[in-house]
Amino acid sequence: MSFPLNADLHCHSARSDGTLTPTQLAERARANGVDLWSLTDHDEIGGQPEAIEAARVQGLRYLTGVEVSVTFADTTVHIVGLGFDHADPRLAEGLADTRDGRVPRAVEMGEQLAKTGIPGAYEGALKYVGNPHMIARPHFARYLVEIGVCEDVPEVFRKYLTEGKPGYVPHRWARLGDAVRWITQGGGVAVIAHPARYKFTPTEEYALFSEFRQHGGQGVEVVTGAHSAQEALRYADMAHEFGLAASRGSDFHSPGEGHIDLGRLPPLPAGLTPVWSLLQERLF
Ligand code: AMP
Ligand code: MN
Ligand code: MN
Ligand code: MN
Repeated sequence: MSFPLNADLHCHSARSDGTLTPTQLAERARANGVDLWSLTDHDEIGGQPEAIEAARVQGLRYLTGVEVSVTFADTTVHIVGLGFDHADPRLAEGLADTRDGRVPRAVEMGEQLAKTGIPGAYEGALKYVGNPHMIARPHFARYLVEIGVCEDVPEVFRKYLTEGKPGYVPHRWARLGDAVRWITQGGGVAVIAHPARYKFTPTEEYALFSEFRQHGGQGVEVVTGAHSAQEALRYADMAHEFGLAASRGSDFHSPGEGHIDLGRLPPLPAGLTPVWSLLQERLF
């Protein structure tokens, strides 16, 4: 492996809201110079066996991965899990419960969009879904782009799918402590995903980081596709303050969507403990 290690520990396949298969992602990771990879589908670990095998074929080191949807302080927060035992039934059950409300939520999103003059959005979104239990907002966004309601996915989010907009349906996801426990009891490390995205007040953010630590969380994403260079430095400071290891991941979903490709990220700021140093024994 090269140094510094090119680790990309956050991306999505068509098992959740990405568009590539785990095998295609492994090929892309290899082509983009990734050394250490993890597939972190939302609330779903069904792609792990394929990802492990594809990483082996491509000569990549691999850590099992997932991104759990959590509700904290009335906000959706994402917790990435790395290096857990993907055969642990307690994790599988927790994720199944977390996914449970997605279909009724999506039906309601379709009803709300119909009221604003966009009929058939639920059925349209289903065409983009690779896993019926994991219907998510990007599937709606891709359909609304297809029918010409918006130019691109970010525009659909801005106009229809974020809080206060007509297609937004609030949802209660897993509890922070439960999500951290499902990951850590299977030998994994829990990581706060893209913290700058939540727009928390300093008090709320302090509460998130300290409760996360109390529950046994050990990592934070410092370098991600969602962070500016300044934000990366800010969360490097937070990693030091809270004694957390640092992770790095693109959050890649699909070619042509988003601005960061797999593995094309700045290095971690100096002086941090990389999260993979806690997971040497869990590496494939
Ligand atoms: P869901 O789990 O159904 O609420 O969908 C969340 C997903 O939507 C995230 O994981 C991102 O992939 C995507 N997403 C959320 N906010 C935005 C945004 N503002 N622009 C583009 N994609 C977004
Ligand atoms: Mn996503
Ligand atoms: Mn996320
Ligand atoms: Mn993600």
